[in-house]
Amino acid sequence: MIGELICDVDDCKADAVYTYVWAWGESGVCCAQHRVILEQKAKQLARTCSFSPINIGETNRPLERDERIQLRATIMTLEEELQTLKGEAATRYHAFAELQTDYVRLREVHARVEAELESTTLERDGARALLAEERAKTFELVQELESVKRLVPRPQPDQPPA
Ligand SMILES: [Zn+2]
Repeated sequence: MIGELICDVDDCKADAVYTYVWAWGESGVCCAQHRVILEQKAKQLARTCSFSPINIGETNRPLERDERIQLRATIMTLEEELQTLKGEAATRYHAFAELQTDYVRLREVHARVEAELESTTLERDGARALLAEERAKTFELVQELESVKRLVPRPQPDQPPA
């Protein structure tokens, strides 16, 4: 209980009236005399020690009617804000899910186009190879034909029958 707090500086045992926090996080409670001592120590160390009064009566006092009404209003407002945020989160989640679906669909389309392009390229390359092969064959045939023509003596049109 706050009312039973005693100064924790140097085994003082006096009633604490301040809470203190050192710059490095160490904290405790102290009496008015030790506040002065701690402030001097802080000055010597060139560090900060902050104090805040312990308001015993204030802390344990039951809430006034007005304060209760105000607190209720604050709670209701916060609850409304929470609902709004939840709604927004749900909307965003749906939008995200839709985007994800679109993304998956687009990836599928992309993969299909890519596959088609690949097969078209393969077909085109195949056709080119075939065409080159055919051309080579034709060239060979033409050459063969030429050499055969050279071997076969041309018949003389005006020669008498043998
Ligand atoms: Zn003290």
